[in-house]
Amino acid sequence: MANEKARYVGAVDQGTTSTRFMVFDHSGNEVAKYQLEHTQIMTRPGWVEHDPIEIWERTSSVIQSGLRQAGLGAEDLAALGITNQRETALVWNKRTGRPYYNAIVWQDTRTDRLAAALDRDERGQTIRRKTGLPPATYFSGGKVQWILENVEGVREAAERGEAVFGTTDSWLVWHLTGGVNGGVHVTDVTNASRTMLMDLETLDWDDELLGIFGIPRSMLPRIEPSSCTAGYGTTTADGPLGGQVPLTGILGDQQAAMVGQVCFEPGMAKNTYGTGNFMLLNTGNELVRSKAGLLTTVCYRFNDEAPVYALEGSIAVTGSAVQWLRDQLGIISGAAESENLARQVEDSGGCYFVPAFSGLFAPYWRSDARGAIVGLSRYNTNAHIARATLESICYQSRDVTEAMREDSGVAVEVLKVDGGITANRLCMQLQADVLGVPVSKPVVAETTALGAAYAAGLAVGFWKDTAELTANWNEGERWEPSWSEQQRTDGYAGWKKAVQRTLDWVDVD
Ligand code: ADP
Repeated sequence: MANEKARYVGAVDQGTTSTRFMVFDHSGNEVAKYQLEHTQIMTRPGWVEHDPIEIWERTSSVIQSGLRQAGLGAEDLAALGITNQRETALVWNKRTGRPYYNAIVWQDTRTDRLAAALDRDERGQTIRRKTGLPPATYFSGGKVQWILENVEGVREAAERGEAVFGTTDSWLVWHLTGGVNGGVHVTDVTNASRTMLMDLETLDWDDELLGIFGIPRSMLPRIEPSSCTAGYGTTTADGPLGGQVPLTGILGDQQAAMVGQVCFEPGMAKNTYGTGNFMLLNTGNELVRSKAGLLTTVCYRFNDEAPVYALEGSIAVTGSAVQWLRDQLGIISGAAESENLARQVEDSGGCYFVPAFSGLFAPYWRSDARGAIVGLSRYNTNAHIARATLESICYQSRDVTEAMREDSGVAVEVLKVDGGITANRLCMQLQADVLGVPVSKPVVAETTALGAAYAAGLAVGFWKDTAELTANWNEGERWEPSWSEQQRTDGYAGWKKAVQRTLDWVDVD
């Protein structure tokens, strides 16, 4: 079904702050890229929403502009892959195409009491055992429940089979394959594994879990593999691609980065630095249950092969702490300036910033935590705060690598990195210093979009196998640790103390 002569594969990366469309050639090189931001809607403390219509419009625009700039058309694409911000939940009417409510973003904490209540009885254990996830505001299930309970008419419409749920991959695939005119309602197994509704072993929606959240099965998308030779559907000629392209890859953004970083062997790990940070470790076909505060998740599933699992350390706030310096404190005018400001000082002057804006995710999972800057003295300046912000990104990543070592016995020897913050060379140097291992960034740093393209291209034979993809990976930059062992130990001990200061702040009981 592929466009036989096509020389490229396209990918849509629907992220938390922006949506981009990219086109890659057979060597994994970037041929086209177009990106647009969308509005972050924050009407109350802890609430974060996106307008689904805006997301679809931005997606259409980036596809059209990306193709136009590169002088390409649908016929040039062998396949299209989608990758997306995970867990962000929306419910829409499949007859009218209208969303019932804004998409509730993964960072949104409105379900904190609900999550805490689940964790107080055996429902929490059931969720952990079946899904590999702790009950938390982060995952989609509670967000869908909130919409069902708080938006009028949704439950009745869901029971009639009209109101459907999806993460943004489902929303985009539905639109791209025709929308109200026969659009398909699917998701992939990696996105489904973030809902608290899918059993990690059966890879199907689980009735007991659906019962816990009061979600009718009829609302849910069909769960498909991440790379699907049969295809989820085909883009329509009247859509933004202007022609038919097989849609054959869907991966949650962090899993897509694993594929883009070619982490196909057990023991391979990557860390993605975006709005939040997400480190994943491939554990092969084995489902490793975490004791140290990591998530167990599906890494990818190619067609009907056995699923590959991963351990994941999710960190809610890293790049968004840099955005906070820009938008809320106004001490920098752009994210890149955080580097110049932080370089004005040699160290953080004894201060630590724990950006627990949405509570703390891995490995703590404390929705009662809130952000704190500690260790301040009159000596400290904006530059120390900027430096402490970059260090917080690195220390949170260290917390996760410690947990990974505890759970799997695997110590990361070289950390593969990608994502927006990796443009910050000081931050990457600090990461090598804080961890005591080298940090390595590939030439093609857009690993998320690349991973989605890889999944889609593998499905149609554009790439033969994963070995072909592995051959495409090349190191672009590397940072070696420069701190002494003592500096590293003292710095981390200070961080652990700072984290303690943020706990027990909000009353979620
Ligand atoms: P996402 O896919 O989550 O939207 P990106 O990978 O595009 O994220 O990264 C964007 C994030 O990276 C933003 O939060 C931004 O503040 C941060 N960022 C981008 N460039 C820099 C930089 N040079 N230094 C520090 N942070 C940066």
